[in-house]
Order: sequence, then C-alpha cells, then structure tokens
Amino acid sequence: MKILVINAGSSSIKYQLIDMKTEKAIAKGLAERIGGDGSVLKQKTADDRAVTIEQPMPTHKEAMQFVLQALMDKENGVIKKVSDIAAVGHRMLHSAEDFHGSIMATAENIATCRKNSDLGPLHMPPMLDCLDSCREVMKDTPMTIVFDTTFHSTMEPVAYLYGVPYELYEKYKVRRYGFHGTSHKFVSEEAAKIVGGKSKIIVCHLGNGSSISAVKNGKCVDTSMGFTPLEGLMMGTRSGDIDPAAVDYIASKLNYTLPQMVQYLNKKSGMLGISGFSADCRDLTEAAEKGNERARLAIEMTAYRIKKYVGSYAAALGGVDLIAFTGGIGENSAIIRGLVMEGTEYMGVDFDFAKNKVRTPGVTELSKPGSRVKVYIIPTNEELSIARETAQLLKA
Ligand code: AMP
Repeated sequence: MKILVINAGSSSIKYQLIDMKTEKAIAKGLAERIGGDGSVLKQKTADDRAVTIEQPMPTHKEAMQFVLQALMDKENGVIKKVSDIAAVGHRMLHSAEDFHGSIMATAENIATCRKNSDLGPLHMPPMLDCLDSCREVMKDTPMTIVFDTTFHSTMEPVAYLYGVPYELYEKYKVRRYGFHGTSHKFVSEEAAKIVGGKSKIIVCHLGNGSSISAVKNGKCVDTSMGFTPLEGLMMGTRSGDIDPAAVDYIASKLNYTLPQMVQYLNKKSGMLGISGFSADCRDLTEAAEKGNERARLAIEMTAYRIKKYVGSYAAALGGVDLIAFTGGIGENSAIIRGLVMEGTEYMGVDFDFAKNKVRTPGVTELSKPGSRVKVYIIPTNEELSIARETAQLLKA
C-alpha cells in the first residue's frame, strides 16, 4: 500500500509517497512559490531519479496536479496511475478541542477545521485550501487529516490550563495545546519500544522550532509549546517563555502594537535575537568556535532552557526511563546535547560524552551501559508518523 503525505504551506506543498510495506519514502518532492512568479516542483525518487516541473502554479490545485504528474512521470515517476495511491494523509496544524486523534477528511470534519482556522491563521487556511484542491484532483482517493496537536490532547487540565480566569477557557478555549505532535508520538513510541513495558519518556524535539514532551505509558502528560508554538523553549527565531509584562514594556519602548510584538517574538527573537546574526545552529556553532561570544551565549541559553524543562518533566513524570533527542539540532548538535546532559548524574543519567561527539546515523544510545536513565538520539520521521496514522484509519 502506498500513502501520499502532504504538508502544505501558504506557497508550498511538501510531499512524500511512502510504501507502507517497507515504511520508506519512494519519492519526496516540494512544489514552491505557488501563487507567485517562478513556481517550481522538484521531486527525487529513492533511487535518485529527479523530476523538475517549471510551470505556473497559481493555486494549490495546479500544484497538486503537477504533484501527480511528477509521481506518474513516464521516465522518472514511481507510479502508473492515481489509483496506485491508496490514501492521502494531510498534516493539519490545529485540532482545537474538537478532535483527539487523526480523522477522515469528510466534508463535516473539514468544516470543523475551517471553523478553527483562527487558532492558526497563517497555517490553517493554506493547509485547508490544499486539502480541498487535493480532494478535487483525486476524487476517488480516501484522505485523512493528522493534527500537530492531538497527541497532546491527553494532557490533564492541571497541565494545559493557564493561570487566568477560567471563563477564558470556557468561552474562548484559551489553553495550552502543544505542537509537533506527530514527531513526539513517533519518537516516544520508538523510545517506548526500547524501554519495554511501562515507560516514562522525555522527548526533546529540537529544530528551528523546538518543543519537549513528557510521555507516560504512551500518553502525553505535558509539553512545552502552548496556545501557540511561541511558548516554551528558546528557538531559532522564537523567544519561548517570557514575562508578559516585559512584552508590554518592550512594546511601549519600540512603539509596537500587540500583533507586531507577537511577530517580533516569533520572528526576530530566540537564537537570532541573542546572536544578532543567525537563527541557524550550525552558523552559531561555527561562530562560537571562532570566539563569537553572543553566538556562544545563544547556544548556552538554548541548552539551559532545555535542561530546565527536562528537570521539570522528570518531576512531572515522577522519574524518567529515557530521554530522546530528535530534530535537526537534537540529532546533530553534540554541543547542545552535551550542555543539556552536563550535571544530570543526580537524576540517574550516566552520559557518554565521548560517544555524543561521534555521529552515527539512525537510533543511537548516548548513555553508558548500566545508566539508570537511558539517553538516545531517535531520528524523527513526521511523514511516516502521518502515513502510519492514515493506514490505521483506513483499517478502522
Ligand atoms: P529542523 O527544523 O528539524 O530541520 O532543524 C533545523 C536546525 O537544525 C537548524 O538550526 C540547523 O542549524 C540545525 N542543524 C542541522 N544540522 C546540524 C548540525 N550538523 N549541527 C548543528 N545543528 C544542525
């Protein structure tokens, strides 16, 4: 069975066609600059054959047509006909409280998602437009919606409520939702297999956007992102946790409106704001090694906040069996992992700092044999997570 996974942005469609027998992507592609000049689609197959389509793509509908054209390309395609695709799994940002798991993309469910678009005004409308286009172009193919939020829907009110008047939750559903759910689910499930039996797992998903989750016996009990992805860790361009009174003060000094402030905290802050020149961990690592103090500070602040969350989640879980690092930074930055794990012997971690510096691909143990708390790199695979969810729904 082959499942097409779609991750749509406002001007892009990222996709993978996954063979569920092997759980490997047989083709990966990206259609970019949809609705603008120079629309282009680039696809690569698992055996490195490329398809490039440079055609106007005024909307997601034309882009979806080109996705199918590329997948069925006579020379370098991977399928013969649309019906070779058993189903399409669409990534969706927000479930609000309406859904607690992945769903079939029925007209009723899509309408509910549209109603919730104001919870993700930048991401939800293009994702839904793409879904509509895909339904038009692939009329006979079943489609699913897999949310970034639903893995966290098992959190209890004690973890998801803010300390603000309760009516705000009742009337407007203001609460913590959490994001990166497909990654946290995928990685925590892989981690649970390593632990075996009951498990207390902390997943550190560290990339351009970063979040941590605490997962007990497969259920998320807490996560660091909140009402939006702005809360929690310090990220590439996001501030993470900050005193709202400081936000008011900064707004008065910079003469910014509240929406401008939110934009500032999302786009100009975090590692970029501290270093003054880059949000990219590789650039910062290189600069720090050459003596750039602000780059070093950005790295140290990032790691320090991760360490604080790891400690607090160990407390929330009542102990921890395995700490997993994933995402571009989690999988590749020895310096950040090393700083996070420094001084964690008190919680039962015996971290192998030498092994941490040698990157071996795939799932890698970074704790020493006999360490009470295991530490692993577990590469994430959000597309496979969406494909698995889709396959599960088709069976149901
Ligand atoms: P993601 O959003 O998961 O793709 O992660 C992107 C982040 O991972 C960027 O900050 C990259 O600089 C970082 N990253 C990727 N490779 C490395 C590496 N080898 N060392 C340090 N950071 C890396």
